[in-house]
Amino acid sequence: MSDSHQPLRLALGDPNQPRIVILGAGPTGLGAGYRLKELGYTNFHLFDRHPYIGGLAASFTDEQGFTWDIGGHVMFSHYTYYDECFTKLMGDHFTLNNRESWVRMMDTWVPYPFQNNVRYLPRQATYECLSGLVKAQTGRGPIKSPAEARNFGEFIDAVFGEGIARHFMRPYNFKVWAHPPEMMNKHWIGERVAVIDIDRAIKNVVLGTDDFGWGPNNQFKFPLTGGTGEFYKRFGPVLDGHVTLNSTVSSIDVDRKLIHFADGRLEKYDLLISAMPLDVLCRDVIEGEVPQSLRTRAAQLKHSGGYMVGIGLKRPGGTPDTKSWMYFPEDNCPFYRVTYLSNYSPRMTPDKDNYFSLLCETSYSDLKPVKPDTIVEETIQGLINCGMLAESQRADIVSHWVYHADYSYPTPSVDRDDILADVIPWLEEHSIYSRGRFGMWKYEVANTDHTLMQGVEVVNRLILGEAETTIGMVYKVTEDGRNAASHERPAHAGSGEKRLAKAAAEAEAKPAIAAATSLGAIPVGDVEEADVAEEEPGVTRSKR
Ligand SMILES: Cc1cc2nc3c(=O)[nH]c(=O)nc-3n(C[C@H](O)[C@H](O)[C@H](O)COP(=O)(O)OP(=O)(O)OC[C@H]3O[C@@H](n4cnc5c(N)ncnc54)[C@H](O)[C@@H]3O)c2cc1C
Repeated sequence: MSDSHQPLRLALGDPNQPRIVILGAGPTGLGAGYRLKELGYTNFHLFDRHPYIGGLAASFTDEQGFTWDIGGHVMFSHYTYYDECFTKLMGDHFTLNNRESWVRMMDTWVPYPFQNNVRYLPRQATYECLSGLVKAQTGRGPIKSPAEARNFGEFIDAVFGEGIARHFMRPYNFKVWAHPPEMMNKHWIGERVAVIDIDRAIKNVVLGTDDFGWGPNNQFKFPLTGGTGEFYKRFGPVLDGHVTLNSTVSSIDVDRKLIHFADGRLEKYDLLISAMPLDVLCRDVIEGEVPQSLRTRAAQLKHSGGYMVGIGLKRPGGTPDTKSWMYFPEDNCPFYRVTYLSNYSPRMTPDKDNYFSLLCETSYSDLKPVKPDTIVEETIQGLINCGMLAESQRADIVSHWVYHADYSYPTPSVDRDDILADVIPWLEEHSIYSRGRFGMWKYEVANTDHTLMQGVEVVNRLILGEAETTIGMVYKVTEDGRNAASHERPAHAGSGEKRLAKAAAEAEAKPAIAAATSLGAIPVGDVEEADVAEEEPGVTRSKR
């Protein structure tokens, strides 16, 4: 690795340490601050515009006593460091939950992984899904192989075939991403390597076998109280004296290394770690000698926003179902996913025996607008339309909660990596390290474990000179001596998890027909470890 900065290791005990400023008290910023503190580095400070810690991983308890996350957060760690951090801060203050995810469509429930359970669909649809899958996987579809696919849309066709694409993958992904799959690249799926086992899919239909992606090997931890945000809140005391909230950055003078806050405060930095959205940072916030082309490029990054609608209900017996979360590809409801949040911990409602909660997520973009004024009513009607609630249960709704995230999903658009390769190195030459879900814009490494580790790893790089692995960039020196970033997948698939590397190696060893893939979503069987990585498209690696 080469870097424009020498590692600051020597500065660890130096009273004149360079000033490190961190923007954003979400998992990325907290991971960076935590690691600096752990290393004994003292000259750093973290700022956030919100009055609370946690960013998109924060949680809120409403007046009726229901606790809500900003979208159902499921913690699946790929990192020992992250696990240790969780243990240190949470102790045994957590629940352990079985993952149980389903797809709701055609008035029926299909267990996840979808392609292994198409027998739950009406017979005609089962046939179409299976026939398309076989055609695609034997190279007889319109796109002969995933390697030939030019974008995510073609990738879906190449891997899953016409039936699954039409019935589930395309409508579902449009609801999640709020962008057509043809606008998205296929590389973001790279990490989720798995193999579609068509024999298994056929066997399940013909023999009527159940093939669920959950079980005792597929559990996730969740804070006992306070929702997902409780974990992040607990970084506050650790970073005491190093955090200032309610501080919105309005501009950054890159030449003078000076941050202007909306309240008039000024802050000097030597090195800046930023988790604010990269497009906003480049387009609106940085000032000084900034090339217009950089602003234009960054502004081309695409994202979706989201409305998180929580519906709290009264019901004797509490939660009526064991499901964790459910996917909704059809247009009879606005949301793409609903979580029985009250199943994650008995303390998510005022009283587990008499209440339950549903958290519903709806994405939007210019291409898929949503009406903010009616989203709650549309959500409730959607829950009724798809059989989650009876009309009579309207009367049992005792709480509704709405959170609007203007930045919810960083879209892995076809030109994203080229944009990042232009923008990130320029910023780093100016001592700005943009990291995190919207700082790095890499959805594939944008879960809480990834983002916290992006913060940890950038500190390890700055202080110890260690290479970052999660962001999946290889730093090179160009002929004229500047740093350049190329986006190559590291051996550990961008997550640092050895199990995935092993799975990838196994997948590579298989014949081409068993093409390596899993849709950000689709689980495809046959990988040794049962594992769920992603929050929404529901990547599962299920055991046989
Ligand atoms: C709907 C949804 C579902 C999710 N589900 C899961 C899941 O199941 N599992 C999982 O692990 N992860 C999940 N995530 C991802 C998780 O929330 C993110 O990984 C994490 O919050 C990203 O952390 P971050 O620090 O990079 O960014 P953020 O959390 O966005 O934090 C950035 C911070 O920067 C601050 N900021 C921005 N602009 C300024 C400014 N001008 N001045 C000062 N401060 C500023 C913001 O206030 C914010 O606090 C989900 C996210 C969403 C939206």
